[in-house]
Amino acid sequence: MAKQTQVLHCSFCGRSRDEVKILIAGQEGHICENCVEHAQEIIVQELSLKNEAGATGSSNFKMNIRRPAEIKKFLDEYVIGQDDAKKVLSVAVYNHFKRIVQKQQTDDVEIEKSNIIMVGETGTGKTLLAKSIARLLNVPFAIVDATVFTEAGYVGEDVESMLTRLLQNCNYDTAAAERGIVYVDEIDKIARKGDNPSITRDVSGEGVQQGLLKMLEGTEVLVPPQGGRKHPDQKMIKVDTKNILFICGGAFDGIDKVIARRINTNAIGFSVNKDEQEHQRKNLLQFINATDLKSFGLIPELLGRLPVVTHLEPLDKETLRSILTIPKNALIKQYTRLFELEEIKLVIEEPVLDFMVTKALEYKLGARGLRSICESILTDAMFELPGTDTKELIVTLEYAESMFSKSKMSTLKVA
Ligand code: ADP
Repeated sequence: MAKQTQVLHCSFCGRSRDEVKILIAGQEGHICENCVEHAQEIIVQELSLKNEAGATGSSNFKMNIRRPAEIKKFLDEYVIGQDDAKKVLSVAVYNHFKRIVQKQQTDDVEIEKSNIIMVGETGTGKTLLAKSIARLLNVPFAIVDATVFTEAGYVGEDVESMLTRLLQNCNYDTAAAERGIVYVDEIDKIARKGDNPSITRDVSGEGVQQGLLKMLEGTEVLVPPQGGRKHPDQKMIKVDTKNILFICGGAFDGIDKVIARRINTNAIGFSVNKDEQEHQRKNLLQFINATDLKSFGLIPELLGRLPVVTHLEPLDKETLRSILTIPKNALIKQYTRLFELEEIKLVIEEPVLDFMVTKALEYKLGARGLRSICESILTDAMFELPGTDTKELIVTLEYAESMFSKSKMSTLKVA
């Protein structure tokens, strides 16, 4: 005891002043350099463990990191079919978040970003997939349309404004936005306008692609908080895009011909069986790769920053039928709930569902058309029945056909 009062000791390891290089004094004790180093290691370890457990993020956006199989299972609840796209997306998103966690630890292997490009006809579920992933991971999400952007200095929006949308969607929580997901729709509409760019400046095509490069790769961007063009006296918010996941989508009309051309000139591996050939011709998109996107007019630098390419299948009769009734918030479930709120039981007979699918295919509207078709059949009832004594509405094929033929939609020309 007497010794302790005379010679100073580290209060953690008990080493005396002579045994250590540095002894830092606190209010009631001391700590040596060895214990400081040790404590630092414990802190780093604890923090990274927490991140792995999925607790990364600021208070409102606790990121839920999920394994690929879990992500796919969740997507299955909302999106019908599209198994290839779901698998590719699940892996890319998982790797992206593993990359974020790894970055916080000291490691010399740097994993690159896995931004994604999805190709598929309109109304096949591209936006729905991106939206569902953001919902599962609980990260800020923004949908932007590539067609509104122009090269800086021209009439239109700067590409930076897509981050304004992201910031607005998370109440300007910059830390959360920096781990968010941006879905860039209609990316095919900013394809290069032709092989000779010198005739006129391509400010809404190649110019925008150039503008996107840095942002997709990861850079610090000054973002106007209310959007619009940047001007000198506006206060800007600095957003680092290195951990933002960009998912791009587009219909790429006519790309099947580009793929067919490539496959025909490169016949190796292409089946010679006639039936098989016919089947493959119908779904050439499954063979899509970056070369085809380049031929379509995306610049190689942009494609380099969108390393994950996936496709969505066109929706056939069966898939459309399932979309009506199976997903968690399927259209028919939504209408049933709407009528339930009026204390009316809605019964839609089976042949009506087939009728809706046939019309959606006829009008070439994809799954998006199903909603308008439902509306055209049910609007009259939704207008007339509330407040009456009706307790049940049975929608027969006859009723559906007569409602549909009265609607504006039926006057549309079939494409
Ligand atoms: P895209 O972005 O490919 O043009 P969306 O994802 O916006 O199409 O789809 C439009 C609507 O159609 C969605 O809100 C959804 O209700 C429905 N839909 C499309 N594809 C699917 C699908 N595979 N599974 C379930 N619903 C779908």
